[in-house]
Amino acid sequence: METNAMNQSLLGALDIGGTKIAASVANADGPLARVTAPTPKSGPPDTVARTCIELLHAACDQAGVPREALHAVGVSSAGPFAQVDGMLGLASPNICGGQSQSHDLPNDWVVIPLERPLKAQFSRVAIENDCVSALVAERTFGAVRDEPDCVYVTWSTGIGFGFCVDGHVLHGKHGNTGHAGHMLMSDTSDAVCGCGNQGDLEALISGRNLANRLGQSTADVFDAARDGEGNARAIAEDAARWFGRGLYNVAVALDTRMFVVGGSVWQHHGDWLLPMVEKELHSRMHALTDGVTIVPAGLGSLVADIGAFAQVMPPEWVRTWRETEPWTPRDQ
Ligand SMILES: [Zn+2]
Repeated sequence: METNAMNQSLLGALDIGGTKIAASVANADGPLARVTAPTPKSGPPDTVARTCIELLHAACDQAGVPREALHAVGVSSAGPFAQVDGMLGLASPNICGGQSQSHDLPNDWVVIPLERPLKAQFSRVAIENDCVSALVAERTFGAVRDEPDCVYVTWSTGIGFGFCVDGHVLHGKHGNTGHAGHMLMSDTSDAVCGCGNQGDLEALISGRNLANRLGQSTADVFDAARDGEGNARAIAEDAARWFGRGLYNVAVALDTRMFVVGGSVWQHHGDWLLPMVEKELHSRMHALTDGVTIVPAGLGSLVADIGAFAQVMPPEWVRTWRETEPWTPRDQ
C-alpha cells in the first residue's frame, strides 16, 4: 500500500537559466519526461513563474501522469535571489532587465516572484542557485557522494561555487551562498566582470569574460593552449593559476577536503589544467591545503535536473536511484 502510494507520487524539477527553462517529472523509478521553453523576457513580473508551472504540467501530460500527483518541486536556478515579502524571488541579471548592466533585456523587472507562486501550486518547494543545486546533485548521485566537507565549483561561462561544511550545505541569508566567482583577486587587472567588478575571479577567467577580452572564443584559446601554442599557453597558465588561487582562498576559509569541478571549460580541459591548478592550491598554508583533492564532476549536463530532484527526494528514492542510476546520459 505504502509502496504503491510512493510509486504514484511524483517529483518535479525546474532548471531556470537565462536562455531556457527545463521542467522534468519523475517517479520513484526515475525521470519520466522533460520539456523546455525559452526563458520569458517580457510581460508581467510573474511570467517566468507561470511558465515554470505550465512546463511542469506539460511534463506531466507528456509522461501521461495526473497533474494533481505532483506535490513537490525542486528548483535549480540562475541567481542571485532576493527576498520578496519573506519569500525568494529572482534577481538574476540574465533574466531581470532592472538588474542587467547590458540593457539588452526587454523588461524592467528588478525582482520577480518565484517561491510564492510555486508554493501556491505545490505543497513542497525547494529552491537553490544552480551551483548549490549542483553540489547537492554531486553529493547525492555524483562524484562526492556523502562527502561532508566538499565544494562544487563550475568553470564555464561564469564561475560559481556551492559549499558543504560538516555535512551542511550552506545557503546564506538570501540563498546566495557560493557567488564567490566575484571574489576580488587583482588590483591591477583590467579584466571586467558582468557584475561590474574589475579583477574578480570571474572577470579574470570565466569563459565569457576571457572571450570578450581576447576577442576569440575561450574554446579556441584553450584548444590552442593544449596544442602548445605559446601565447595561448601563457593565457591558459595564467587562468589556471587564478583558478587555483580561488580554490586556495576557499580551502583556507572552509577547511574543505574535496573540490568537485564542473562546467564546460573543466569538462574539456581539466585533465591538463589540473596540475597547474593543484600547484597553486597546494602552494601555501600546508596545514590546510595538504591532501585537498580536485575531482571532475560526475553528472555532466544532467546536474541541474538531478540536483533539483535531489532537493526534494525522499531517502528511499535516493537508495533506489543510486542502485539503478535511471537518468539518461546527455552530452553537454
Ligand atoms: Zn563579478
